[in-house]
Amino acid sequence: MSDEPLRLLILGAHPDDAEYHAGGLAAAYRQLGHAVRMISLTNGAAGHHEKPPAVMAPLRREEAAAAGRVIGAVYETWDIPDGELMPTLDVRRRIIREIRTFRPDLVLTHRTCDYHPDHRAVGQAVQDASYLVTVPNVLPEVPPLFKDPVVACMADLFTKPLPLMPDVVLDATDRIDTIVRMLACHHSQVFEWLAYEEGILHTVPAGEAEKLAWLREWYLRHIRPRADRFRPQLIAAFGEDRGRQIEAVEVYEISEYAAQPDAARRERLFPGGR
Ligand SMILES: [Zn+2]
Repeated sequence: MSDEPLRLLILGAHPDDAEYHAGGLAAAYRQLGHAVRMISLTNGAAGHHEKPPAVMAPLRREEAAAAGRVIGAVYETWDIPDGELMPTLDVRRRIIREIRTFRPDLVLTHRTCDYHPDHRAVGQAVQDASYLVTVPNVLPEVPPLFKDPVVACMADLFTKPLPLMPDVVLDATDRIDTIVRMLACHHSQVFEWLAYEEGILHTVPAGEAEKLAWLREWYLRHIRPRADRFRPQLIAAFGEDRGRQIEAVEVYEISEYAAQPDAARRERLFPGGR
């Protein structure tokens, strides 16, 4: 039974949230022959300084699909307008349908403490769905699950009202190149919109190899504070020397509102995690 492939479902708010926060775990799943399904609930069409939403929506759908192909994962983008996601009954039902249909062992999503309203909304909607996926009279047209999946929140650094509990820390060092290649597929974001927003658009190089190197630096610059925040846990998990060196880390908080894995199950659900 323990050799059966696992199924990972990542429910992010925007195209690129899944790989930015959990690309290392997703890549590890694929390398082990497990199934990975990544979803952006919104169409991501708001994020650009020049291209209008009608151009952005199909572009971001294609960029996300390409990012999924880097690791052999399905990456689906839903049609909810970017910036307008709410934890409505309709969204909850779509998530229940998705979980019941894909039957994931592990679901990853955002916390409800987050700067972005779309992140808060998907975190809330997944929490709301976590238990109801087992209740037959909720969405009776889709057969219920007998057991919840394990649900975990991807890392953020916000502290109010509560900081993330680092239940699992994962050294993503060996996955940096893969994560960067996935992020690079989101061309309109990483090389255009986010660079524009950060005032560094003029530093984006022209050549493809140079772009990848630039993005690697960008990724490490953004991800390093996460390792610094959870440095005590990294040192406890990986030892003084290694723990102090790690720059790229993924951190997960296991939700109290869904299945609680025992130690063996946790080890299997988070390969390489401590
Ligand atoms: Zn996002």
